[in-house]
Amino acid sequence: MPLQIVHHPDYDAGFAVNHRFPMSKYPLLMEALRGVGLAAQEALFMPEPAPAAWLKLAHAADYVDQVLACEVPEKIEREIGFPVGRRVSLRAQLATAGTVLAARLALKHGIACNTAGGSHHARRAQGAGFCTFNDVAVASLVLLAERAVENVLVVDLDVHQGDGTADILKDEPRAFTFSMHGERNYPARKIASDLDIALPDGTGDAAYLDRLRAILPELSEGRRWDIVFYNAGVDVHSEDRLGRLALSDDGLRARDEMVIGHFRAHGISLCGVIGGGYSTDVPTLAARHAILFEAAARYA
Ligand SMILES: [Zn+2]
Repeated sequence: MPLQIVHHPDYDAGFAVNHRFPMSKYPLLMEALRGVGLAAQEALFMPEPAPAAWLKLAHAADYVDQVLACEVPEKIEREIGFPVGRRVSLRAQLATAGTVLAARLALKHGIACNTAGGSHHARRAQGAGFCTFNDVAVASLVLLAERAVENVLVVDLDVHQGDGTADILKDEPRAFTFSMHGERNYPARKIASDLDIALPDGTGDAAYLDRLRAILPELSEGRRWDIVFYNAGVDVHSEDRLGRLALSDDGLRARDEMVIGHFRAHGISLCGVIGGGYSTDVPTLAARHAILFEAAARYA
């Protein structure tokens, strides 16, 4: 079966090419996926913008209203890293709904991926760190509210700590948050996940994969998980502008294969989101994000 992929052309909010956030990676990722024979039309899904009621499960109602009205206070926009105009607001609603849709497809088919998502720095009160809404937290709370799932596991391997997800889900006993990240990477003030592993600068493939291999059984044995959200941020790569962990392409491939293979072997549905990746060479960056989809396709 082809891998179920969720995408929307408006994931790309059309920033200037020299913007610190490489917005063009979204269409280029789709190009890369077509290039490796993924993104079959019959397995491609497009989300509708997320309704406010979903967003308000994870975020303060006044903040959600501000984003939907494009009236986010400047102080918060500065923390997010860009102004929240019409296209950014739409993009945030689509990317969030995309993760909800990918999660539903994962529950149905075992695995599915969103070509956006992993906006893990958005906290309950507001966005931050290039993240407007926290798609994984919203999707977790939507599925829990609908009783589509009883137990949710978040495995966040983006190089940055999943502070926003930890903040939103900290009082939700049916969700467990795990983050493995660069100790010296953003955010400076981390918010404790249910389990955090902080790695030193320059960790590299071997040490990174050893830590991951050791922790995965512990995570899957914790509870009977109905779904795992996997944030496959590629900012762990040695050539990433923001990351400090020094993984290679092969290391990334081995990581994604290890995570997906592990949870699928345990019969747990997996929803993949792309997370962070920052490089001025955006086609190369997009190809790096495609690794998640290539690994996932082997389990579809
Ligand atoms: Zn990141």
